[in-house]
Amino acid sequence: MLFDSPLWNNTMILLGEATVLVVVFLVAMALILLVIALVSVRNGHLYLPRIMKPWFFLLEGLVKAICRFFGLDDRDLISFSIKLQNSMNKKSFEGVPVEKRAIFLPQCLRSARCPANLTPEGIWCQGCGLCTTGEAIRELLRMGYRVFIVPGSSFIKRMVKKYRPEGIIGVGCTLEVKEGLDLCDQLGIPGMGVVTLKDGCVETCVNWNEVLEVASLGLAPSSGPDDLHLPSE
Ligand code: SF4
Repeated sequence: MLFDSPLWNNTMILLGEATVLVVVFLVAMALILLVIALVSVRNGHLYLPRIMKPWFFLLEGLVKAICRFFGLDDRDLISFSIKLQNSMNKKSFEGVPVEKRAIFLPQCLRSARCPANLTPEGIWCQGCGLCTTGEAIRELLRMGYRVFIVPGSSFIKRMVKKYRPEGIIGVGCTLEVKEGLDLCDQLGIPGMGVVTLKDGCVETCVNWNEVLEVASLGLAPSSGPDDLHLPSE
């Protein structure tokens, strides 16, 4: 009988040992990645990005499971993942002409007294001056961007289908930006994410200088943003 033969038994033992070794190796790698990710987020510096990128995306699920097992908040991990995706996409994004780029802003950045109207192209800022969004939008339009204030979740997909941008900047809370970057990955569009400084549904804030810095990637200095000195809100 084949199943009783020494060859079969030895093969099974070898397979079992190999499986244990692979599992131990993957768990050890996931733990190392977790430590590097947390240190990177805390220090605001991306360590070993070349090594981290392929391993992190391969083992992202396992790293999250370890976080949950130890009761750690996986928000830091999501922030780290956004930083990684940004750094991976930066070069491709820089190569996209500005007229083929789009930026999606969350409606929560507006003033609570915003008079803007909802249109089929999103919320249309009137530049009333009640919040800094209007001034930033003016600058982004001057640079050549297609700018949208997003009224709802299906809007981005609709506009991407309609205008087919080749590079996208998404501004939003951590989870929105992560979802947006994942969507860009699925669509094969280089996406860059900027996370708002405050989560919430009303009058959140973002570092506009960071947004404009990302927006000017790959553009000639003359087409970059004017020195706006916008406050971070
Ligand atoms: S500047 Fe634009 S977004 Fe801000 S409150 Fe006025 S209309 Fe709304």
